Amino acid sequence: MRALEELVVEYESAKKDPKFQAELDHLLKTFVGRPSPIYHAKRLSELAGGAQIWFKREDLNHTGAHKINNALGQALLTLRMGKKRVIAETGAGQHGVATATACAHFGLPCVVFMGAEDVRRQKPNVFSMKLMGTEVRPVTSGSKTLRDAVNEAMRDWMSTVETTHYIIGSVIGPHPFPMIVRDFQSVIGREARQQSLETLNRLPHVIVACVGGGSNAAGMFYPFIEDSEVRLVGVEAGGHSSAPGQHASPLSLGQPGILHGTMSYVMQDEDGQTSPVHSVSAGLDYPGVGPEHSFWKDEGRVEYTFCRDGDALATFDKVARCEGILPALETSHAIAKAMEIAAGLPRDQIVMVCLSGRGEKDAAEIARLTGRDY
Ligand SMILES: *Cc1c(COP(=O)(O)O)cnc(C)c1O
Repeated sequence: MRALEELVVEYESAKKDPKFQAELDHLLKTFVGRPSPIYHAKRLSELAGGAQIWFKREDLNHTGAHKINNALGQALLTLRMGKKRVIAETGAGQHGVATATACAHFGLPCVVFMGAEDVRRQKPNVFSMKLMGTEVRPVTSGSKTLRDAVNEAMRDWMSTVETTHYIIGSVIGPHPFPMIVRDFQSVIGREARQQSLETLNRLPHVIVACVGGGSNAAGMFYPFIEDSEVRLVGVEAGGHSSAPGQHASPLSLGQPGILHGTMSYVMQDEDGQTSPVHSVSAGLDYPGVGPEHSFWKDEGRVEYTFCRDGDALATFDKVARCEGILPALETSHAIAKAMEIAAGLPRDQIVMVCLSGRGEKDAAEIARLTGRDY
């Protein structure tokens, strides 16, 4: 609790400090390449046959996804707190790479905890992290995947908190992490809101984002929460089916519970033990979800639904061929739902999708799953 209470105080003071914000804004501009554009996916809109589909292009960020927005913000916070070492967890390796990048930029030593199973499946990301001077520590407990990596990172932090900051990768874990990650990712929604007003002279009718832990969705949605006329839709990983263990849709199919220090919807069995989860995309297979999403669900402000593995894979191909963009498999879940929603709306309406990341990382896995040469 002491570590968390200290973090609340440090973060609140950083948030109010114009120098901290200016330094972060400068980095986002010069190192990440922000602002990321909004883009009209005309041919994909034609294919869907209804409303106009627009993308918020987080795939164009340095390192290829939204994760860098949070990693840089928290790395700056680490320096401000006078801490000398960073740890992080990673599943598919995207947050690990973003954190390794931020730490190389600032010259901070970094250790990334990664399930041994994920180390095996995500070799290119493991190599990138090592190239940037990060130590990747394989976690061999439990299912050897993301939730075990979070456990291990929290264990390390409890014994090293004097010198170490834990850069968590999504809007999960105990307070204040979900708030900090949401705030750093809200640059996505702030830009999208302003760009919509400038380019479209209005706000989008519908906004769609995929939900793993929920950070790209929270960052996209948060600046629109007060705009009650904007419909917000979060898309979870529907996996193979709605049977236990075959998907990762805690908001759609889970029960309230506690995981990694936060109360939220969780995939669990009758005894309250966390259940195994499955998704075709490694970035979405987490058995819990950010607590603010649970609040938005219960309040009715955001609708949550899910997309099956097969629909995400089919949508990846459509976006590649229609738009010349390879979306991440995670993002493909959101685009699939956006196309479905667009099909039911008039042509003059706007559906905006958070294009959370690029899909080159998924090419080999897609080739394997669809029986094509890589
Ligand atoms: C990590 C990742 C996600 C899922 O994480 P959230 O915290 O739910 O955003 C989605 N898309 C991409 C491209 C990712 O790398």
